Amino acid sequence: MKKILVLPGDGIGPEIVAEAIKILNYFKAEKDLEIALEQGLIGGASYDAHGAPLTDATLEQAKAADAVLLGAVGGVKWEALPIAVRPEKGLLGLRAGMGLFANLRPAILYRQLADASSLKPEVVAGLDIMIVRELTGGIYFGQPRGVRQLDNGERQGFNTLVYSESEIRRIGRVAFEIASKRNGRVCSIDKANVLECTELWREVMIDLAKEYPKIELSHMYVDNAAMQLVRAPKQFDVMVTTNMFGDILSDEAAMLTGSIGMLPSASLNEKGQGMYEPIHGSAPDIAGQGVANPLATILSVAMMLRYSLDQASMAARIESAVGKVLDQDLRTADIMSKGMKQVGTAEMGDAVLAALQ
Ligand code: NAD
Repeated sequence: MKKILVLPGDGIGPEIVAEAIKILNYFKAEKDLEIALEQGLIGGASYDAHGAPLTDATLEQAKAADAVLLGAVGGVKWEALPIAVRPEKGLLGLRAGMGLFANLRPAILYRQLADASSLKPEVVAGLDIMIVRELTGGIYFGQPRGVRQLDNGERQGFNTLVYSESEIRRIGRVAFEIASKRNGRVCSIDKANVLECTELWREVMIDLAKEYPKIELSHMYVDNAAMQLVRAPKQFDVMVTTNMFGDILSDEAAMLTGSIGMLPSASLNEKGQGMYEPIHGSAPDIAGQGVANPLATILSVAMMLRYSLDQASMAARIESAVGKVLDQDLRTADIMSKGMKQVGTAEMGDAVLAALQ
């Protein structure tokens, strides 16, 4: 029996998570999947109930689960709170507490939605990239850091980019393993021409590649990668990179698809436990209206099945059901275009369920 902790969060979180749960419950009822779902609070919802965006009890529940499904956190109501108890801190606490070092961000553009991209349809139609970002190290966490006063009275800000060999090897391994289940190509993104730390990154990736003779490893400087992503994005299969480069490139890649409501993500630890969530936020502007797109969350369930529950065929069934629903011309408001049929959150979830059946 696999345990899944469900944390709907704030804003549209509960609405979109409810649709994802329909899918999980379908597999459960079909006896395809033995799962137990637990519910918890995170973000503003947790702050309102307990005075903290993530309680120790919820973190313990998350650590004991095989996977966590999260909606989104945040909203205007909590914006004036001290930083230490803001909703986003709940998410950071979960990442740190579970040791989620690998962030998987697919950028997939369903051919039915090619017009939603700001790039020409022929450049992006059928796009399918997986960005593997290191999430717990690098310049966002390196010490020393701070702002200091120089002798001449001027202030100086400084941060440290640091990666140990084991950290690089660990994230590299995730990328190689994923590539072996996809098209067998890894492009490692660095800035080895100027940063010693990423020179080491490149060396370790080259060394690691010896263990994966079937995978084709290439290297690209981050500035070129940023250009190539808008010039010819379909050249990439799996991209692996540092925390900061991955932060920027994964957002760039997401925008190639033009539809924030369609993109799932996963964050994994060494035990294979994962947190699965859509890449978008809590969308307070449309919360409570029943119009949010639940597909990113439903596709996050597919990632959960593939990466934490070892159910790749069920994951593929969900992904193909989403494709079918798009073929039926059903669209939520965010991906609506002329001639299509507009549906709400629950109708979209029901349509995916029907396509599964
Ligand atoms: P957002 O992603 O919530 O919304 C950006 C825009 O996209 C909005 O117009 C919204 O209506 C739309 N949108 C987002 N998801 C959608 C969906 N599923 N269907 C249809 N439309 C959708 O980003 P924001 O407005 O910058 O942030 C709102 C709140 O979310 C803030 O409190 C922010 O801190 C938080 N946030 C949370 C996460 C997270 O939980 N991982 C990520 C980003 C932002």
